[in-house]
Amino acid sequence: MNRKKYFLEESQMPKQWYNIVADMPTKPLPPLHPATKEPIGPDALAPLFPMELIMQEVSQERYINIPEEVLEKYRIYRPSPLIRATELEKALGTPAKIYYKYEGVSPSGSHKTNTAIPQAYYNKQAGTKKITTETGAGQWGTALSYACAQFGIKCDIYMVKVSFEQKPYRKIMMNTYGANVFASPSNRTQAGRNILAERPDSKGSLGIAISEAVEMAASDENTKYALGSVLNHVLLHQTIIGEEALLQFEMADDYPDIVIAPLGGGSNFAGISFPFLRNKLQGKKDIRAIAVEPSSCPKLTRGKFMYDFGDTEGYTPLLPMFTLGHHFEPEAIHAGGLRYHGASVLCSQLLKDGLIEAAALPQLECFKAGEIFAKSEGIIPAPESTHGIAQVIREAEVCKKTGEAKTILFNLSGHGFLDMLAYGDYHEGKLHDHELGYQEIESSIAKITDLQPEFINA
Ligand SMILES: *Cc1c(COP(=O)(O)O)cnc(C)c1O
Repeated sequence: MNRKKYFLEESQMPKQWYNIVADMPTKPLPPLHPATKEPIGPDALAPLFPMELIMQEVSQERYINIPEEVLEKYRIYRPSPLIRATELEKALGTPAKIYYKYEGVSPSGSHKTNTAIPQAYYNKQAGTKKITTETGAGQWGTALSYACAQFGIKCDIYMVKVSFEQKPYRKIMMNTYGANVFASPSNRTQAGRNILAERPDSKGSLGIAISEAVEMAASDENTKYALGSVLNHVLLHQTIIGEEALLQFEMADDYPDIVIAPLGGGSNFAGISFPFLRNKLQGKKDIRAIAVEPSSCPKLTRGKFMYDFGDTEGYTPLLPMFTLGHHFEPEAIHAGGLRYHGASVLCSQLLKDGLIEAAALPQLECFKAGEIFAKSEGIIPAPESTHGIAQVIREAEVCKKTGEAKTILFNLSGHGFLDMLAYGDYHEGKLHDHELGYQEIESSIAKITDLQPEFINA
């Protein structure tokens, strides 16, 4: 009989994160200074991040030890279970074997806690008194508030005003963990005041919220900034997911042919897939890794590999990535965590080198997949996670046609218990698929051509 769940003992939890840079055939291109377009060194990031995180950001070491204090906090909710989706398999009538790693078991309900905890820890070690950040849908804000509470650090969160007004429960969660939450644009920062002077009724954007959080961190030496996705050190921390999954597949005496995850900036995709890609890059075991994005924000499948800013205002260094241009404004789809204009440097380089794949899926297909999963397996997935599930269903349908019993693993990055409004809108037929025009993408990308350094054209 096949088992349903695979649990690791706490003592079996991996004690190192995996840095894929060590095994990449093409090393990532360096971040550049926006004005000089020269590569920047670690010191340039020092006003915003503690040095230990900056060293991880630029590290070439294959493995990085997880500090004992971080392991202790991980043990509050880790190891997370690997679950065989037997009921989903039956519902689909597929010969495929489907497994999911469930990251919704974390206190904040998603994988984001895996990086929030070490980021709060390294800040505590460096003497940081307060951490600022932005949040859109609220997943990252809740994870960081919780982590700051664990280490006794103050936490200020700039929440995009439209979410602040529409998602009161996420805000209340952050307040419960002790964080201050400000609707952005706020009049606490110059960036916020500038926007409000121009447009007093602005509902904000992730770009504006980042600018506010960065400004507050840059202007006070005891305050630092934290980011919940995209950066190398964030992806590194998430590899605990895939390292656990490798051990759980040993217990199951199985190994995935395909690994699937949704991609916003790339952190949970990297987290589950990079440890499996290590075996591929080292020539041991092949695998297909598929990152799934919404078709309304298709940087991987329709964007270009270029240097671009991480934020809308152009405060960050220039990073080499698949992007739709930092001015790109995606439709207000319900998977808020996937509405980011670019993909992480590491995922972008791997895609460019043909080592991973990407798929873009429409919103309605994803909610339908979420509902099929909820009915069969019982867990209501976060709208972001439904993108991975929809791709799993597509692969399972292929297996049904060919009769192949492929093994598919996907990351259930979070539960959707605070996203009921989205499911309600879906049931009431209020959601639509948005077909993005060729022209819209071209003109957004055209705006960043002058940011490119000479060595890219050479
Ligand atoms: C934030 C989020 C994502 C997307 O972010 P990545 O950095 O690409 O992982 C996906 N799923 C959930 C549940 C999220 O909260």
